[in-house]
Amino acid sequence: PPVLAIIGRPNVGKSTLLNRIIQSREAVVEDVPGVTRDRVSYPAEWNGRDFTLVDTGGWEADAKGLHKRVAEQAELAVDEADAVVFVLDGLVGATAVDEAVVKMLRRKKKPVLLVANKIDSNAHMSEVYPLWNLGMGEPFPVSALHGTGTGDLLDAALKHLPKTAQHGGMVPLGGPRRVALVGRPNVGKSSLLNKLAGADRVVVDKVAGTTRDPVDELIQLGGEEWTFVDTAGIRRRQHMASGSEYYAMLRTQRALERAEVAVILLSVEEPVSEQDVRIVQMALDSGRAVVLAFNKWDLLDDERRYYLEREIERDLAHIAWAPRVNVSALTGWHKDRLAPALQRSLQNWEQRIPTGRFNAFLGELVAAHPHPVRGGKQPRILFGTQPSTRPPTFVLFTTGFLDPGYRRFIIRRLRETFDFSGTPIQVQMRVRE
Ligand code: GDP
Repeated sequence: PPVLAIIGRPNVGKSTLLNRIIQSREAVVEDVPGVTRDRVSYPAEWNGRDFTLVDTGGWEADAKGLHKRVAEQAELAVDEADAVVFVLDGLVGATAVDEAVVKMLRRKKKPVLLVANKIDSNAHMSEVYPLWNLGMGEPFPVSALHGTGTGDLLDAALKHLPKTAQHGGMVPLGGPRRVALVGRPNVGKSSLLNKLAGADRVVVDKVAGTTRDPVDELIQLGGEEWTFVDTAGIRRRQHMASGSEYYAMLRTQRALERAEVAVILLSVEEPVSEQDVRIVQMALDSGRAVVLAFNKWDLLDDERRYYLEREIERDLAHIAWAPRVNVSALTGWHKDRLAPALQRSLQNWEQRIPTGRFNAFLGELVAAHPHPVRGGKQPRILFGTQPSTRPPTFVLFTTGFLDPGYRRFIIRRLRETFDFSGTPIQVQMRVRE
């Protein structure tokens, strides 16, 4: 879905406005200095159109001064957005910090909706007019607290958001395969990209219907063309220390949405970290095919290798089904192994098990390992089918709820019986009482 970013100084009421717009689907916590929030974006809907609201949390005032900090954070959010809601405190008017943000917004040339918040009554309306002077178009008077004015604001915002043809994170069929190269900073994403691209790098045109910059590249691998998505984001040096993880996660989420397969890059130089695990989780949640790539293999010695294997067993057991490729972006060692791994994961991601074959599998499984009896009852599996792929999704018609453990057992057996390496599998139940 298209992205709408909300920016503004602390205390202008961003969180309240955000909560208004997402309608308490998930409450946004207040800005807490020094805290980086996990959540970077929220699903929202207005007049039947889905969009993603991006919050600019994690404000940190430091020695650099709040002015600079706020403008920097806002800039990161703006780069990722299709349109921007810029919130001011309508009763305070434009401050020096706000002016700095306005300057940045002029450079970015993204659609901006200027919001004068805290206009809780008509008596305050006269406060809004001076904001015309900012040259950001018509200010929208809003009371996030009372919920007034937000409808007009959203009507206007939607006009600036690209209409996405496909829904719910679906990716278009056909054309070169779309790859998201993800991983925490410094694992070697941009180095690997450079190594893979070599001289064959071609920048893809603007994505149709969006206002985003050209961000993708076509790369030849294994005799095939691949679209690596958001390579601009990978190559853009992360010069901002604060909040960079926050936006790196947002970028990862966006890249996954646009890709069919993810290469999750880890570095063997350092222990598998929490951030690595979080990125793995994002990839799993996205339902995309995956390949795990371990970079900087040239730096690996026996001792580190010993610990690495243990870290993989401990932290990455839940994705043990993903193909593993060991590479060195520095020397190019094993870079030719990436394409076959990608192909295999994608093939399995699109694998369809014929209904007859699937039911034969279920029959054998249930005969050998029946569902445990609970409270005198034993749920039976009547029939199974695989209605969809990308990723493979199975539906079981049952006479009662299956234990989560039994469901996991079915998934494990599916993986043992068919080749599902590199793809998540979903198993849903339809209970017929
Ligand atoms: P990114 O933030 O994930 O894009 O990481 P970079 O590509 O900027 O790489 C971070 C650092 O790791 C740089 O100093 C690279 O030169 C270094 N690096 C990347 N890949 C390798 C590798 O395979 N081996 C070694 N020894 N260093 C690497």
